[in-house]
This record gives sequence, C-alpha cells and structure tokens, in this order.
Amino acid sequence: MTIHRKNIILRCLSFKCPRCAASGYLKSWFRIKSQCESCGLILARDESGFYFGTTSIGYVISFLFIIIPACVAVIFDLMGVWVAVVSAICLSILVNILIFPVLLSWVIMSYFFLQPEALEDTDQKEN
Ligand SMILES: [Zn+2]
Repeated sequence: MTIHRKNIILRCLSFKCPRCAASGYLKSWFRIKSQCESCGLILARDESGFYFGTTSIGYVISFLFIIIPACVAVIFDLMGVWVAVVSAICLSILVNILIFPVLLSWVIMSYFFLQPEALEDTDQKEN
C-alpha cells in the first residue's frame, strides 16, 4: 500500500495518522502517543528528535514574526526597548505554547514525508 505524500501532508496537518487517517495522535497538548491506536504505526520513533524539532521551528517562528518586528518597532521609535524586549519574550512563549500541537504535527509530517517507506513498515515491534 503506497501512501502519497499529498495524503501524508493532509493527514498530518489535520492531526490524523499518516498511515490510516485515524484521528487523535496527540496524547496531550505537548505530547504525541507512542503509536497509532488504530493501525499501530509507531509515531514516536525518535521522540526526543520530534520535540527538538518543534523547539527549532518555534525559535524560527518567534524570530521571524515576533523578534524582528519588535526590533523594527524599536528602531522606528514605535516602542521602548524594554517594552519591546518584555513583549517579545512573553509573546514568543505564548505563541509557542498555543501552536505546539501544530509544530508537533509539522515534525511528524516532515518525518513521514521524507521517509514514506516508514509508513509501510510492517515490523511493528511494540504491537
Ligand atoms: Zn494509524
């Protein structure tokens, strides 16, 4: 069974299993289940790498959409330096908490998009 990369993207970004499209692979707001409850696909093969990936994407998003605009606001005297620093820190933390499940699904999507053969792996040792 071949799963097209388009389906991997659509399923992962809608929080569904990239193999069987069953929903609910989030254990909590900050965690993914170790495997799909429907098809047994191991989702957390490299769990620490998944969480490291979300942090990296979060840094990039914070830098591009919060820190740079805050710097520009300071340069153009739209806000004070300390107001910008405190606002940027608070906003970065808040945004990363709010979008964390999306970041997790983005990392899962990237993993299976780059390695679609992992979806066909029938050697699920934890079944
Ligand atoms: Zn599944």
